[in-house]
Amino acid sequence: MSNIIKGIAASDGVAIAKAYLLVEPDLSFSNEKTDNPEAEVQKFNEALNNSKIELTKIRNHAEEQLGADKAAIFDAHLLVLDDPELIQPIEEKIKNESASAPQALTEVTQGFITIFESMDNEYMKERAADIRDVSKRVLAHILGVELPNPSIIDESVIIVAHDLTPSDTAQLNKQYVQGFVTNIGGRTSHSAIMSRSLEIPAVVGTKSISESVQQGDMVIVDGLTGDVIVNPSDDEIKAYQHKRESFFADREALKQLRDEPSKTLDGHEVELAANIGTPNDLEGVHNNGAEGIGLYRTEFLYMGRDNMPTEDEQFEAYKKVLESMEGKRVVVRTLDIGGDKELPYLNLPEEMNPFLGYRAIRLCLDQPEIFRPQLRALLRASAYGKLNIMFPMVATIQEFRDAKALLLEEKENLKQEGVEVSDDIELGIMVEIPATAALADVFAKEVDFFSIGTNDLIQYTMAADRMSERVSYLYQPYNPSILRLIKQVIDASHQEGKWTGMCGEMAGDETAIPLLIGLGLDEFSMSATSILKARRQIKDLSRTEMVQLADRALNCATVDEVVDLVKEKTTKA
Ligand code: PEP
Ligand code: MG
Repeated sequence: MSNIIKGIAASDGVAIAKAYLLVEPDLSFSNEKTDNPEAEVQKFNEALNNSKIELTKIRNHAEEQLGADKAAIFDAHLLVLDDPELIQPIEEKIKNESASAPQALTEVTQGFITIFESMDNEYMKERAADIRDVSKRVLAHILGVELPNPSIIDESVIIVAHDLTPSDTAQLNKQYVQGFVTNIGGRTSHSAIMSRSLEIPAVVGTKSISESVQQGDMVIVDGLTGDVIVNPSDDEIKAYQHKRESFFADREALKQLRDEPSKTLDGHEVELAANIGTPNDLEGVHNNGAEGIGLYRTEFLYMGRDNMPTEDEQFEAYKKVLESMEGKRVVVRTLDIGGDKELPYLNLPEEMNPFLGYRAIRLCLDQPEIFRPQLRALLRASAYGKLNIMFPMVATIQEFRDAKALLLEEKENLKQEGVEVSDDIELGIMVEIPATAALADVFAKEVDFFSIGTNDLIQYTMAADRMSERVSYLYQPYNPSILRLIKQVIDASHQEGKWTGMCGEMAGDETAIPLLIGLGLDEFSMSATSILKARRQIKDLSRTEMVQLADRALNCATVDEVVDLVKEKTTKA
């Protein structure tokens, strides 16, 4: 019998494949003493050997798929498995104290981890992390439990997980991963956003999928509706194969609009730009007819690695994007780390409310040694295209002024060094914090442009964590309160002859687009895969009518009233 589980539709498309459970396995054990230490030592040695075989396989696979630098972490793990200073005390503990193999392994490795972690030394902290990883693998072998190894997947699967971090998502191999489903997360969590760039159908926030699915169960992911069907019948599989084909056919048909302008029926033109995370997303940008890049989330350059990217590495990435866009505008956002985007090597303090904490521009201004190399890399890259720079999570004018001062200082330094830097860089901010929207008229005098980050603006305005599926009903882009804030920002920028874009997920939302056209939004930046659909929709809208629609929506009381208005005004007779 099939079982339908409902979640939040996170990335369009339909996928049908076997489930691959990416969940933490149960590695608990009883701590009884052993009456056969010899056998226990042997069990431990066998687990060591099996771990080595497995790690070597993973290492080689990682080298082939991801390159030698990504494989290096597994070399470090293999070294741990050969370290007599770790192995011997474990064997002695079993022999001398009759400790069971899991007990001896856990106690000895935990001892090392505690010592290394307490040292004020990055290298030793990394070793602690290696020992923790390796110890988990050996323990799994002792207990006969299989650990998930997503990096060695070599068949079509649908990943089922409690959560996927952005770096887990970045490592998914699109060739095999057909889709994913998670327990937690909302439409604007970063793994959901990334699934759209990767064009992997995804459903998030199902609450319990990881408990409802067994390894290898057949699963259908409907990323259009948020339905997940576990163990579907033959008829259901046929129906969804059909839906999948229609989805692809529609996507093909949209390609005709690739080089068309984004213009309403009555000639009002807007810019449809793409959000990207890495230069790898450029192919999608070009295939989907983006007129620019409205948000380059640079933090992904910093993730999935063990150390900070150098100024040169960053320069190369930015230059590649600018060159590839051939003079079209590229808006690069400076580092926005924190919230659900972690950088383990920065050892940031744990906070009760990470989305309200030490993140983005707050961290960059506090640690200029991190910020300056990025600014320099951007300034150097500015000679290769049309660069705009924007700062994330700006809450006060002072933060903007401080960030701008650092940028100008680095610009001056580079010029002194004889490096070419463009004099045509526009400098803007993301409007993500209600305080900034409220003061938009003041900001508009100092910035060159705004980009409204509705993912955060909505979470802060509604006081609803964007990662929590339980309060995801409060993600209400059409709430009149949000529309009023947006209007205030757009009007303030126009008053000063500046422009406003939007790079939150709302910019590509079918119900929001008519309202945003009416409110006068200048640039819409979205997942590249949403651009052609948005262009088709805009071509059928009348700007004059949308202005009237927006005026009425601003005075509605509820989201439902706004949605009804949009439907009434945009449904063709
Ligand atoms: C936003 O907050 O809307 C945004 C685009 O930034 P991010 O999703 O990366 O927080
Ligand atoms: Mg944001």
